[in-house]
Amino acid sequence: MVRKYITPGMTTQLSALRRNLLNWFRQNKRELPWRQKRHWYTTWLSEVILQQTTVEQGLPYYHAFVERFPNVHTLAEAEEQEILHQWQGLGYYARARNLHKAARQIARQHHGRFPNDKKLALALPGIGPYTAAAILSLSYNRPYAVVDGNVTRVISRLQAIAEDIRLRSTQKIIEQHAQTLLSKKYPGAFNEAMMELGALVCTPVAPRCPVCPLSRWCLAYRQQKTDALPFKSAPPPKKRQYHWVVVYENTHRYLIRQRPEKGLLARMWEFPVWETDARQLKNTDSLSVRLSGHRISRVSGLMRHVYSHINLQYRAVLVEGSPEETPGTGTRKWVKKEEFNNYPIHKAHRHIINWLLNDQKGR
Ligand code: SF4
Repeated sequence: MVRKYITPGMTTQLSALRRNLLNWFRQNKRELPWRQKRHWYTTWLSEVILQQTTVEQGLPYYHAFVERFPNVHTLAEAEEQEILHQWQGLGYYARARNLHKAARQIARQHHGRFPNDKKLALALPGIGPYTAAAILSLSYNRPYAVVDGNVTRVISRLQAIAEDIRLRSTQKIIEQHAQTLLSKKYPGAFNEAMMELGALVCTPVAPRCPVCPLSRWCLAYRQQKTDALPFKSAPPPKKRQYHWVVVYENTHRYLIRQRPEKGLLARMWEFPVWETDARQLKNTDSLSVRLSGHRISRVSGLMRHVYSHINLQYRAVLVEGSPEETPGTGTRKWVKKEEFNNYPIHKAHRHIINWLLNDQKGR
């Protein structure tokens, strides 16, 4: 059974809560470029860019995207490699690939317009319930509640939901509450207001309850449980991976290769990689054996990169000459250092380029 503090039948309370929140939003919302003139295309771009990314980190990407791809047709007609290149550094590259695929479908099957229908919206690549609800409510004023991390936090405190928010069953409860609270007259503004409240007032640490427009109704505030809610269990441990990254240099060109079609960082570019273990990564003697016949110019210190489910530790080794065997099966290229920027190289290996170039300045 759903435990509701504010129930659908409490119409007077619900009206007052919505009014308070919408008034607060009108007076306190941040001026963000996608809010200036609402259009489904910029709403979509901003929502996809800001998944797993802060507004500060996402803003330069948003501006660059709108400048380069001002509408869905320019995005649909672009090459995937160019989109990945623009996305470089944001991580979660599947988002960029899906953005491109969805743009093509919208251009070809929906006359260049985002479908004003939840079922059709959910059929587009990369459009899940969150993005569909955000675009449909913010751009078409459709009554779908948006539930992101900020809204989850606000609702679990407001309604004192103690269950683990990592569980799908708890998420379902929160979605039901969100739908109950949603203003059916101004769903877009209400959704934005809830997300903004989570970002500015109902923050993960030290929420500013005395100035919160929902404090009158908030159970966690009343019960002094704001520090304990929401409850989120520890994530499963990340897999550890260790790589030697081999930078082959031959007449001022460096060998890079394209990753496979599917899987993590699909079709991104990188230097050849050898999987190893923690002990071998500390020990450069093992390299001499594997790279016998090549001159090792330099070896980097330890670098780290964290993916959603992997903790990667890696070191780079700069080697003169070509590999005896093709490392990996994908496309490979020898490129000059000035050409690195022409390829979507993933972030962990961008650090290697910095190491390579910075250290060469003094040479
Ligand atoms: S009163 Fe405090 S805990 Fe409750 S919603 Fe507002 S900021 Fe969050």
